[in-house]
Amino acid sequence: MRQETKCIEAGYEPKNGESRMIPIIQSTTFKYDTSEDMGKLFDLEETGYFYTRLQNPTNDYVAAKIAALEGGTAAMLTSSGQAASFYSVFNIANAGDHVVASSTIYGGTFNLFNVTMRKMGIDFTFVSPDCSDEELEAAFKPNTKAVFGETIANPALIVFDIERFAKAAHAHNVPLIIDNTFATPINCRPFEWGADIVIHSTTKYMDGHDATVGGCIVDSGKFDWMANKDKFPGLTTPDESYHGITYAEKFGKEGAFITKCTAQLMRDLGSIQAPMNAYFLNLGLESLALRVERHCSNALKVAEYLENHELVEWVNYPGLKSNKYYDRAKKYMPNGTCGVISFGIKGGRENAEKFMKHLKLAMIATHVADAHTCVLHPASSTHRQLTDEELIAAGVGPDLIRFSVGIENVEDIIEDLEQALAQV
Ligand code: PLP
Repeated sequence: MRQETKCIEAGYEPKNGESRMIPIIQSTTFKYDTSEDMGKLFDLEETGYFYTRLQNPTNDYVAAKIAALEGGTAAMLTSSGQAASFYSVFNIANAGDHVVASSTIYGGTFNLFNVTMRKMGIDFTFVSPDCSDEELEAAFKPNTKAVFGETIANPALIVFDIERFAKAAHAHNVPLIIDNTFATPINCRPFEWGADIVIHSTTKYMDGHDATVGGCIVDSGKFDWMANKDKFPGLTTPDESYHGITYAEKFGKEGAFITKCTAQLMRDLGSIQAPMNAYFLNLGLESLALRVERHCSNALKVAEYLENHELVEWVNYPGLKSNKYYDRAKKYMPNGTCGVISFGIKGGRENAEKFMKHLKLAMIATHVADAHTCVLHPASSTHRQLTDEELIAAGVGPDLIRFSVGIENVEDIIEDLEQALAQV
């Protein structure tokens, strides 16, 4: 199946007389005829469901669809993108371990790594996605367990060189984890470029309708944990809490990562996505390919319009030929990048504030990457406590406007920009 078809058909195949749509199994628990039957599940001897804190059939249908879209072998849903990022790293890195991460990852992920996971004893080295080979090499330590990057960074819109970072990770016998939220598997499939694990904030384009917060982790099934036995003891040595099962032996390269993540992290931390939310996520996935195509074509027209406007100082969109990352974007995302643009208006903070007041269609929101066009001026909202100098140091200049282009008629979006710019 091609990507557009997978969006509709993958993950769930109803049998004769069963519901056409993915059923919502809104049940915390599951019944068994005998204790032995249930015992086999607890020993991971058989697959099945016993408690929704770990697994639920609705979630698994949706996760299987995302696995198919990414070209992976196994996947799981999480309650949020944050939970997916955390689990993907914590599944292989413990206290005393180290991770190399791109410095331009989403601010929430940066904080999770740099503050919260440091408190748990995991060390991080952040490198620029454009660092030199020497800088990248120097970032690795003997206790490094993973490399983490974002296909298109939110909000810097820097395109990550997946192939280069995958080679570096593999040279050090560790997997590359990619946050593919902004590109989605419609525009980029990181596994084809060497990534080993992909995560998503499904809250963005995958849901696409501002309806549900969620996340997903997908395994490529390619990383050979057993070949690096000493580095990943959690996968390659017996888990006493499951009668001495060794995940990489019992579930192979294809299933070990997600099985361990479900059996241990979901069991102990419980960041499961509600089955009802998984159902809504699936509705979003059904139209993902269509919507992403429209987001990208709208965003390119808006970016070109802004680039030619006399009041606009600069435009950052990797789909623009003038963009520093255009060639890299064409390599990894030949059909389009995403719907998010950032730009600056002449006259700095004051004019940006005026412009924001006059927008009618584009709504002011902290969110991005959904059907509605939305806009944020960080200097007067999320980052308002910072001075102009501090804003520049944070990479969010006082004039910066983040514009997430929706799937409305692009003429309406451009007319809205036109009238708001005219009043500046
Ligand atoms: N990754 C990226 C690229 C994001 O933009 C976000 C949220 O904005 C997250 C992860 C975190 O996802 P969530 O808000 O679903 O927890």
